[in-house]
Parts: sequence; structure tokens; C-alpha cells
Amino acid sequence: MIHIAGGEMVRDSDDRWEVDESVGATALGAAAVRAYESAAGSPLFVDPYAQRFLDAAAERGMTVTHGGRMPEDFSDSDPALVEFVQTMTNYAATRTKCFDDFVVNAAVAGVRQFVILAAGLDTRAWRLDALRGCSVFEIDQPEVLRFKEAALGPKVVPVAYDTSVPIDLRGDWPKALRAAGFQQSDPTAWSAEGLLPYLPPEAQGSLFDRIDGLSASGSRLIVDVYRPEFYGDAALEQAFEQLDRAARSGLEADGDDGRIYQKDLFFTGERIDVSAWLRERGWEVSVLPSVDAMAALGRPAAASVSADALSSDFVEAKRLD
Ligand code: SAM
Repeated sequence: MIHIAGGEMVRDSDDRWEVDESVGATALGAAAVRAYESAAGSPLFVDPYAQRFLDAAAERGMTVTHGGRMPEDFSDSDPALVEFVQTMTNYAATRTKCFDDFVVNAAVAGVRQFVILAAGLDTRAWRLDALRGCSVFEIDQPEVLRFKEAALGPKVVPVAYDTSVPIDLRGDWPKALRAAGFQQSDPTAWSAEGLLPYLPPEAQGSLFDRIDGLSASGSRLIVDVYRPEFYGDAALEQAFEQLDRAARSGLEADGDDGRIYQKDLFFTGERIDVSAWLRERGWEVSVLPSVDAMAALGRPAAASVSADALSSDFVEAKRLD
């Protein structure tokens, strides 16, 4: 069951969640895309564990219907709606593939320490052989990480030395990370996938301050960053209206008594320009618009989908000093 209050304030500065409520359910939405992609012909990646999470959620009474029920099954639906769902699914699958590549490239370049911020149901520490023998620290809310551990079970062994760091990213997570064994003098590869809209702007600012302060020379970072037009009232209204219609017609990831994706889960307000901020602090930055990444992987965005909904970039950075 997803607990989302209709019309009420659903977020506050120190809210917590289980995997099947509020922001936690978006981790299941991402797993649903990965389960769908893994079963597709010519998948961009295979996540053999994604379906486990959906099965474990179903045992708790939450059916996430996205996986396995996609456009080809819904030829009678509004074509624009089908294209929207297909594009958003391709967006999320492309993102996972690009972040996978970042992690593999960092490991091949010799980075041995990885921090996955807002890890959710990410299984890179289990499925990416390049991480064998590396340290991976996964930060997320305690209940989300507990669900993940239980769903994977003791027999599914990570290839990396995986350490859960159960803490809110608006709190003193650097302290918890150090206590968990993080080595500040070692180069680190940081990944923050699908996180920023769920952080208040000031927490986003302090997130990058802290990453910068914890990054030894040779560190790397990847993050999906949303441009101001993505957060515009009209753009969010339109995107969430489509997600809502999709959920009602059985097309989109959906729970039993609520929707996974809710506009009110996002924090709006002015945010730092992440690329400019990193460059000012000496990071070498490259910016890949998500639509270009999608096209390059043969998953182009449908022309009918508003550009605002896809106004995001995959930002990669290296600290050279
Ligand atoms: N990175 C994962 C992936 O791509 O599959 C999960 C993405 S999911 C869209 C968002 C994740 O951010 C959820 O797992 C949620 O619990 C986590 N998250 C959001 N805000 C957080 C916070 N303040 N502290 C810790 N985790 C947070």
C-alpha cells in the first residue's frame, strides 16, 4: 500500500518512509523499469534481481504493475499516452545504462571506493563484475535498505564489499559514512541517480558541498540534474497528469491504492547550477543531455513528449587536483 495524502502536504523536512510509501515507492518504480528492461529483447542491461523486489513488494500487498505490461499490450490506449510511458521507461533504462557505464569505467580506471547516494534498489554491487573486490557504500533511508537486504536474502552475495549506510541524506551522512569505513584519502566514485528532485534545494546544495569536501584527487561523480524548466509548475502539472492517466489505465507503475509518482514528492525552488558549481571548484565536468543519451542508445524520446519533461542532463565530473 502506498500512503499518499490527497491534497495534503506529503513532505516535511525530516520525513521518513518505508519502501512502499512516499519517496520510498519510487525505488520500486525504478526496479520495475529494470525488471521490464531486463526481460526485453536486446536489453540495455540485465538486472537479475529487479523482479525479486517487485515480488517482495507484492508479498507486502503492493502490486507494481509496470514490469511486463508495456505498450505492445496496450494498443487500444491513447497513442500519445503510450508514447509518454514508453519514453519515460526508455529514459529510466537509459539512465541506468549510463550510470552502469560510469561505474564500470571508474573501476577499470582504478577507483576502488564507490558511494551510491540514494541507492534504493540499485544492485550494481551484486551485478557489475567490474566492482569485484571494491568497497561500495550505499546510502538510503533505513527501511528502504532493510527491505532490499531482506528481499535479496543471505544467498545473494555481492561481488563488491557492500556496506549499507542507513541515514537520511538531509542529515549528517558524512559522519555515518566515515563510521562505516569510508576512506577520505582514497579516490571515490559517487553516484546520485534519481535523487535531486526529492531533496529540498538547500539539501541539494549541502550534498554537493559534502561530496566536494570528501573527494580526494581522482574522484568522480555522476548525477542526473534537472533544468529549471523541468520544475516549472505547468511542466510538472502536465507530466503528472499524464502519469496519473497512465496509472489509471494500467499502463504505468502503480500501487494498490495510490500512485508512485506524485508531484508533491518533489521539492521545487531555486537550485544551484550543479555543473557550474563543480567547475568553480576545480572539477572537470561533462554534460550529456538525457535525450541525446537516449538517442545514442537507440531509445529516442517520442516527438509527442514535452521537452520540459525530459529537460535533464547526465552530469559527470572528475576531480583532477
Ligand atoms: N538510485 C536508485 C535507482 O536509481 O534505482 C533509487 C532512485 S528512487 C527514484 C529515489 C531514492 O532516493 C529512493 O530510494 C529514496 O528512498 C531515496 N531518497 C530520496 N530522498 C532521500 C533522503 N533524503 N535520504 C535518503 N534517501 C533518499
